[in-house]
Amino acid sequence: NEVLLVESEKLTAVGQLAASIAHEIRNPLTSLKGFVQLIEHKVPEVNKEYFTIMKEELGRIELITSELLFLAKPQAYEFRNQQVNKIIQDVVLLLGSQALINRIEIKTENLECLPAILCIGQQLKQVFINLIKNAMEAMPEGGVIQIIASMPSTSLMLIRVIDQGIGIPKELIAKIGSPFYTTKENGTGLGMITTIKIIQSHGGNVDISSVEGVGTTVDVYLPVVPSVTA
Ligand code: ADP
Ligand code: MG
Repeated sequence: NEVLLVESEKLTAVGQLAASIAHEIRNPLTSLKGFVQLIEHKVPEVNKEYFTIMKEELGRIELITSELLFLAKPQAYEFRNQQVNKIIQDVVLLLGSQALINRIEIKTENLECLPAILCIGQQLKQVFINLIKNAMEAMPEGGVIQIIASMPSTSLMLIRVIDQGIGIPKELIAKIGSPFYTTKENGTGLGMITTIKIIQSHGGNVDISSVEGVGTTVDVYLPVVPSVTA
């Protein structure tokens, strides 16, 4: 319990920091983008590739700030009664074509056992997007991602996201969810902290287990009646 408390305090501080950073970066970024676009077709052909690079890098800054903003956004949303089943189905549909391109099959199991709960649908959607994206990114050779739902008790739901990816070395599992921790060249290291924060604000928690070279399982526990702390 003590650990959990410290963890959520840390997240709050991170959230505040994130909000101010994102805010400070947004405006200059917008004007930079505008001017880059403006002068792009006024330069000699030979310099065009610099513009491609500049636009890519600006896009990356934009991605990071939008993730930061999402992370820091005050919980102005309302908790509404929603079907978790439906939320997950929507995400699977959303990521379907990307999965196909990467030769990945997303299989769901038993989702219909999940009851409707009071939740912020948009945020839970983000959680499953983050988890399935991580699973896909861990499987460069393709494979199967399983999403298995169950009810460990009448008041608790468990959604498991199982991949056949590269796995995570034991000593690095603890680092996941630290802000900006990433092992990817193009990662932001903000996906898991966002995921954990959202699930905790719904009164639940996230468990990660992994075997290198075999795959990773992320367990999302959500109470049916949340003790809302958002
Ligand atoms: P990002 O995806 O931008 O790197 P995340 O916070 O989503 O940031 O994930 C942080 C790190 O956790 C990843 O860079 C990766 O090393 C590890 N990770 C998360 N999910 C998985 C997974 N399913 N398989 C292997 N590694 C993972
Ligand atoms: Mg990620």
